[in-house]
Amino acid sequence: MSEEKFDAIIVGGGLAGSTAAYVLAGAGMEVVVVERGDYSGSKNMTGGRLYGHSLEKLIPNFASAAPIERKVTKERISLMTDRAATTLDYLSGESAALEQSSYVVLRAKFDRWLAEQAENRGAMFIYGVRVDDLIIHNGKVCGIVAGDERMEADVVILADGVNSLLAQKAGLKQELSPDQVAVGVKEIIELGEKQIQDRFNLTDDDGLAWLFAGSCTGGTIGGGFLYTNRTSISLGIVTTVADIGFSDKSVPAMLDDFKNHDLIRPLIKGGTLTEYSAHLVPEGGLKSIPVLYRDGVLVTGDAANFVINIGYMVRGMDLAIESGRLAAETVIQAKERQDYSANTLSAYQKALDQSFVLKDLKRYRNFPAFMENHRIYNDYPAMVNTLMHDLFVVDGHESVTLLSKVRKSVKRVGILRLLKDAFKGVRAL
Ligand SMILES: Cc1cc2nc3c(=O)[nH]c(=O)nc-3n(C[C@H](O)[C@H](O)[C@H](O)COP(=O)(O)OP(=O)(O)OC[C@H]3O[C@@H](n4cnc5c(N)ncnc54)[C@H](O)[C@@H]3O)c2cc1C
Repeated sequence: MSEEKFDAIIVGGGLAGSTAAYVLAGAGMEVVVVERGDYSGSKNMTGGRLYGHSLEKLIPNFASAAPIERKVTKERISLMTDRAATTLDYLSGESAALEQSSYVVLRAKFDRWLAEQAENRGAMFIYGVRVDDLIIHNGKVCGIVAGDERMEADVVILADGVNSLLAQKAGLKQELSPDQVAVGVKEIIELGEKQIQDRFNLTDDDGLAWLFAGSCTGGTIGGGFLYTNRTSISLGIVTTVADIGFSDKSVPAMLDDFKNHDLIRPLIKGGTLTEYSAHLVPEGGLKSIPVLYRDGVLVTGDAANFVINIGYMVRGMDLAIESGRLAAETVIQAKERQDYSANTLSAYQKALDQSFVLKDLKRYRNFPAFMENHRIYNDYPAMVNTLMHDLFVVDGHESVTLLSKVRKSVKRVGILRLLKDAFKGVRAL
């Protein structure tokens, strides 16, 4: 690595890092991104759905140039037991405005494209290098250490993802506790474009986002997902680390059982597994947000635990992009003042406070605690599926009223408990 001093060093070339690089390079700053993977996207994982609004602000109509897989036009949510499943299927029918659109993406292609946009503006990317430490002089972060090499900069942006050891080394972040982090495993199953369209009832570029709760995680806190790519599907589960030790199923076994469920098996029949990945997801919400800056350093994206999981919606990529942009804009202001002190960099906190990132994390601050209720993953899927069974089965015995059918299925949870949980859920949203 060069001995030269840069305006900014960014650690991590995922969405947060490449966005920050794009903005800084666009302002004419000398910026270098250090990424441990062989290329941007090589180490990055997601379920698949990018809410486009934050990138739209930066690169209008980006989807016309970026390697997106499909535009999400259909939504499904399923509550599953081992044998049954009840599914809510939603088709908007409206053509969404660009800032309201969301897309299925594969990170290996998408992150690479975004990094190229930053490179085209003059950002430098160094691949295959892991940053081990930060250079800190008199309490100010002044650069990075990788192996026996050092590189200096006025400011360092940490975009190194959920397990940011560097944010910990800078004293900004605590080690994640098991209840604040989930593990996700995902398979990409190649089916071909026609099979995708036929099996999921899609036309042209339309895409499906499908989330699952219940038996897909063996009743542990978490859920399953299926996103349609152009010629493949992304299928996986996410489960909280704190729960894994108490489950009698391993995470790979959960995914296998999910794939073998009667709801899923026919959809992936004949498909070829082309990729298997696993990754942590920060799920602690607002309470887990670390200190976001100190002299000479800022933290963005997953490194700052900027992820919102509210069951029917998982968002991290739009928050990574927005926080990368706001960090870069703060650095541009700091350069104008030639002052990279915590005092100047505190503008980042203010910008985040005024953005959807911290506003939404605040709005959903009680949701992580609500999600710790195991009835959501066990009793409620069973209750709904028992009710469905009773609604549709005709066996020659005298029919009972709808009310008695509802009463019977609610009985397994208890009406008071159900009302209490429903009230808590609505309040948390
Ligand atoms: C299973 C799963 C499903 C998800 N589903 C969704 C979804 O559908 N929609 C959504 O919006 N979000 C989803 N998320 C969350 C989303 O993927 C993340 O919020 C997003 O990837 C964060 O981007 P980032 O750039 O902050 O971090 P990352 O993408 O993790 O990038 C960090 C980068 O830093 C690099 N790095 C780390 N340490 C070092 C080091 N020491 N030196 C050099 N480089 C380093 C890594 O190699 C990596 O490239 C999901 C996450 C998972 C795991």
